[in-house]
Amino acid sequence: MLPDDSVPRLELFLLASATLEPAGYGFLETPIFEDTELFARGVGESTDIVQKEMFTFEDMGGRSLTLRPEGTAPICRAYVEHGMHKRPQPIRLWYWGPFFRHEAPQAGRYRQFSQVGAEVLGSDDPAVDAEIIALLADILEEADARALRLRLSSLGTAETRREYSEELTGFLRSRADELAPDVQARIEANPLRAFDSSDAGTHAVMKEAPTLLDRLTAEDAEHFAEVRGLLDAAGIEYEIDPALVRGLDYYTRTVFEFTSDALGAQSGVGGGGRYDALVEQLGGPPTPAIGWAAGVERILLAAGGAPDVERTVEVFVAVPKDERRRTGFRVWKRLRGEHSTLMGEPGRSMKGQMKQADRVGARWTVIVEDDGFELKDMESGEQRPVASEDELVKALAQ
Ligand code: AMP
Repeated sequence: MLPDDSVPRLELFLLASATLEPAGYGFLETPIFEDTELFARGVGESTDIVQKEMFTFEDMGGRSLTLRPEGTAPICRAYVEHGMHKRPQPIRLWYWGPFFRHEAPQAGRYRQFSQVGAEVLGSDDPAVDAEIIALLADILEEADARALRLRLSSLGTAETRREYSEELTGFLRSRADELAPDVQARIEANPLRAFDSSDAGTHAVMKEAPTLLDRLTAEDAEHFAEVRGLLDAAGIEYEIDPALVRGLDYYTRTVFEFTSDALGAQSGVGGGGRYDALVEQLGGPPTPAIGWAAGVERILLAAGGAPDVERTVEVFVAVPKDERRRTGFRVWKRLRGEHSTLMGEPGRSMKGQMKQADRVGARWTVIVEDDGFELKDMESGEQRPVASEDELVKALAQ
């Protein structure tokens, strides 16, 4: 990540912070690597992430460690390990940092990428679902991500999903010869992923498949209706997509995804959902929770590249090599609070430093003299003596 690319990233970080902190979300950092077991158990053995995308290695003590491929399982671990479940619920958290997946790199898909994410643990209220979706919508809109679409669905509880999976498996088996080979191979392990396939034959079959939305229990259907009602009330637009399947196993009830039509094949900008069973599965008490993660690089791609941020130098301080360099240093330190100020290197000739002032586009150059300063207006080329530091500060303040 080079300096020019880092400016919009830093701005996005500040935007996320300015959106999430006042909404009650505390910033949390978890380690870059964790016990492999955490992801195997948390994300799900049958997922692509666990099966083939993790960077896993052994440390010197022979323990299996994995560079984190996602943020939710580590956050649940931290929630339990640090007794956050004993504090008043719910707990609102947000994070930002690098994640790692061994995928074939292409535009918008990298082996190391950054995610910003938010989680609310300890509440199953539909208002929390609507809140967290609204916050991601706000961030994406403020970041100027273009051509956004929000897809929404509900996966019900683990029990509903299990029954539905059996029904879907039966359906897929009966139509197996019309499915793509990779879908066929996954019928037993992960039938829901058949909805994700880009194969035309599979697509046609899946249009006729039973949907999970039609199998929700009354309670889950009511929860989903309430989430939709809240989003409607706030004017947040969405499409119901019964085929929305996310690549992680832990989701229950609400799932959602923001995509951008401005992106190519990798159109997912960010998404998430409820994971009401995950904390318990990782050894904690039963804790309903919901979260999302959004790709930093994807958000910036969807925003159409970097905003025009020019790094400008207002004042350049040209300093000779002799004693005057101390005065130059003091002036640089004093001006820095008010102006973007760059100091020349005393080892360079005055001519070289003036050239550098030109190259960095300085508006003013201060030349340190024995008995005061010369202030050069770099636009007009005019130069005038300034007797003292105070006068210099005053002159530049105008
Ligand atoms: P996920 O954790 O799979 O739900 O991903 C959440 C978001 O992270 C996606 O919508 C993407 O924006 C981003 N993302 C996931 N994998 C990658 C990757 N390999 N490279 C870049 N961004 C990614």
